[in-house]
Amino acid sequence: MSLSPPEKTAEQERSLLNVEVAGESAVATGSTEVVYELRGVDVHYGQALAVGGINMRIHKNVITAIIGPSGCGKSTMLRTLNRMNDAIPGFRLSGEVLYHDRSIYERNIDPVEVRRRIGMVFQRPNPFPKSIYENIAWAPRILGLRADLEERVENALRGAALWDEVKDRLKQSALGLSGGQQQRLCIARALAIEPDVLLLDEPCSALDPIATASVEELMHELRRDYTQVIVTHNMQQAARVADRTAFFSLNVENGSRSGVLVEYDTTKTIFTSPGDQRTADYIAGRFG
Ligand code: ADP
Repeated sequence: MSLSPPEKTAEQERSLLNVEVAGESAVATGSTEVVYELRGVDVHYGQALAVGGINMRIHKNVITAIIGPSGCGKSTMLRTLNRMNDAIPGFRLSGEVLYHDRSIYERNIDPVEVRRRIGMVFQRPNPFPKSIYENIAWAPRILGLRADLEERVENALRGAALWDEVKDRLKQSALGLSGGQQQRLCIARALAIEPDVLLLDEPCSALDPIATASVEELMHELRRDYTQVIVTHNMQQAARVADRTAFFSLNVENGSRSGVLVEYDTTKTIFTSPGDQRTADYIAGRFG
């Protein structure tokens, strides 16, 4: 189901942070289809519980932000959604991560196929030292999607709002692009294999404010066709881009710390009337 692009929010509100809250247009327009359902998810690295007891649903065509203090398991949770943690020594997951009702950790599920459906964009733009065209064409070629490759590359670059800026220099090195363009190129690279979900791990932390704005605007545009989950340490960013926000925090028990999901609601509720004191303290900058 395709949703209308976000309204330029009549419902924008001042939050506790004194920033504009993006509103809930995708939520309000009825995207209740569940893409992910996490049931009782615990993640350990070795003996240490990194994040525990996670129950949450992630909805289609909704931008979901994961926020919280450093070390509370934001990245771990994000990487759990496309099995990017698999290669980490000692990584262990219990509970269920259902993606369109199927457990992605079942024995017979191919992690490569999971990552084909669920793309990821990282903190630092990481284009290959190749031409702009080759950056985009690489993954489709590997996956045998060779038909109409030029069209596929163009569509991906258009999808990432980069085509007009690069169409005359497709053969030039991607490393010559600005930081913001490189990050949009990485998003285009993910789009080239037509994923269903985009996971973004602090995608703007290495970008200046103008480049950040271009990526955030792109996220709004992509909401029509993709489900997006973003980890950000920047609360203003969560307030600007996300429809729903999950606040994670650190529990300290017997001297060991692990991440917990404290509150998960519409971004408006999290930023203007959170139900949990820990959320309110964090949003207000009282980090304990
Ligand atoms: P956040 O993204 O919120 O900063 P992380 O998911 O990176 O949190 O980390 C959560 C916990 O898991 C932390 O205690 C961290 O030290 C631990 N952790 C993260 N990555 C690894 C790893 N590769 N090996 C061992 N422990 C890890």
